Amino acid sequence: MPTSQPGRSPRTRRHLPPTVKRFACAGASATLVLGLGLAPGTAAADDAVLPTLVTTEGIREHVENLSTIAEYNGGNRATNTPGYDVAADYVVDQLKRAGYRPKRDTYDYELWQEHSEAVLTQLAPERRELAPGEDFITMSYSGAGDATGPGVPVDYDSADSGCTAEDFAGFPQGAIAVIKRGSCTFQAKAANAADAGAVGAVIVNNVEGPLNGTVSEESAIPVVGATTATGDALVAAGDALELRLKVDASVAERTSYNIIAETRGGARNNVVMVGAHLDSVPEGPGINDNASGTAAILETAQQLAKLDDPNNRVRFAFWGTEEQGLIGSTKYVEGLKERELERIALYLNFDMLGSPNYGRFIYDGRGELEGSLPPPSGSGAIQKMFEDYYEQRGLITEPTAFSGRSDYSAFMEAGIASGGLFSGGDGTKTEQQVEYYGGTAGIDFDPNYHTAQDDIDNISWKALDELSDGVAYAVETYSESTLPVNGVAPRTFQAQEFRPDRVGDLWLR
Ligand SMILES: [Zn+2]
Repeated sequence: MPTSQPGRSPRTRRHLPPTVKRFACAGASATLVLGLGLAPGTAAADDAVLPTLVTTEGIREHVENLSTIAEYNGGNRATNTPGYDVAADYVVDQLKRAGYRPKRDTYDYELWQEHSEAVLTQLAPERRELAPGEDFITMSYSGAGDATGPGVPVDYDSADSGCTAEDFAGFPQGAIAVIKRGSCTFQAKAANAADAGAVGAVIVNNVEGPLNGTVSEESAIPVVGATTATGDALVAAGDALELRLKVDASVAERTSYNIIAETRGGARNNVVMVGAHLDSVPEGPGINDNASGTAAILETAQQLAKLDDPNNRVRFAFWGTEEQGLIGSTKYVEGLKERELERIALYLNFDMLGSPNYGRFIYDGRGELEGSLPPPSGSGAIQKMFEDYYEQRGLITEPTAFSGRSDYSAFMEAGIASGGLFSGGDGTKTEQQVEYYGGTAGIDFDPNYHTAQDDIDNISWKALDELSDGVAYAVETYSESTLPVNGVAPRTFQAQEFRPDRVGDLWLR
């Protein structure tokens, strides 16, 4: 649904000289005046240059090109496919044209693949076939196997069912464990079950809906997640319960890569990192998830290169293998030396900025929402910067949980202040949110999430326009100063104070 942009000339970019000065000089357009003397991080939204340079037209071109690349390469840009490689070549070429020296950051990982549908059947007391995808879902990184045995509940009514070895005291060898979700990781529950001699594990959801989970390392036994109704019915069958559980999957060694590029100028020891994942799910072209974020940071990188050198180095990351478990970003952070980690001032994440039934969400840097990862200090300052920006623009925003479902996870775990924007995914829009953003109540922010329909026709250009302004504003703000986030004042600040722009009525520069 293409939308025009009120108050912005689509020709702005063509009117600008190739290098735009950060500070106004005589004859420059009034919109480019950047207020000197404002405290860092408090620049008025209207004074920012980059949001003016980063246009929806520029972003749309990248989105269209990524869509075309998917279309001609099997319909997706998933990790370890030609679609990903060509998309990566595109990003590299675009960055080079803008003067960057992009690098491929290669990593090895274990790719888990399921080869045929899993089977979970109640054999006794009466036979009941359960439906894969509805009643149960194979956990990612489940081990393979075809197991038959008694189904034995493990401390089923406890909130920490299966979290300790004691829970399995007296567990019969060769049985299939029925465990409730909660307290500890699926990995821990599956490992405890295997250690106790279980030949399979069914982990039952404690909230509504199927349990689509992952064990972090390939489990020794087959593991599936089941709905509460499915699990409760199994447990209600009592001592006579007999189950068959079959998972047909394997883990293969694979290699993929991120694309990393940074500004040539700016303090090396105070790096602002900006990331978006470049890979899509195998099911579709991944236009909202995440050509939208990719295009927004790519266009921002290109426009940033036209400005004078930033005070802080800005490093852009186009992550690979996000959809298989945040692998590219995790490998990147794990691969950094302590000293390199310390140089990263903050991380900004942009994953889904054009949801068709969108909202304007800012990651919960203050850690106020249930289900948020504990935010490192400085994350709240990033949240406030975004909130202030949209408030000045008269646009309502809401916080969204740092759920751990995107590439900020590894950075937050490493203690790096993080933030970002999100237009909504598989959550349902409320009536209240329709008042805030328009759209339709009672359906998801992105009804096409992770499907083949997440295509170029199902993206909100208005959402992408509004949220990409925030991307550009954040990058400009932190390229100048990260003081409110990590306490580092810009090194060039003194120098600027002694270099006035004008003396009396005469412009000096
Ligand atoms: Zn995504």
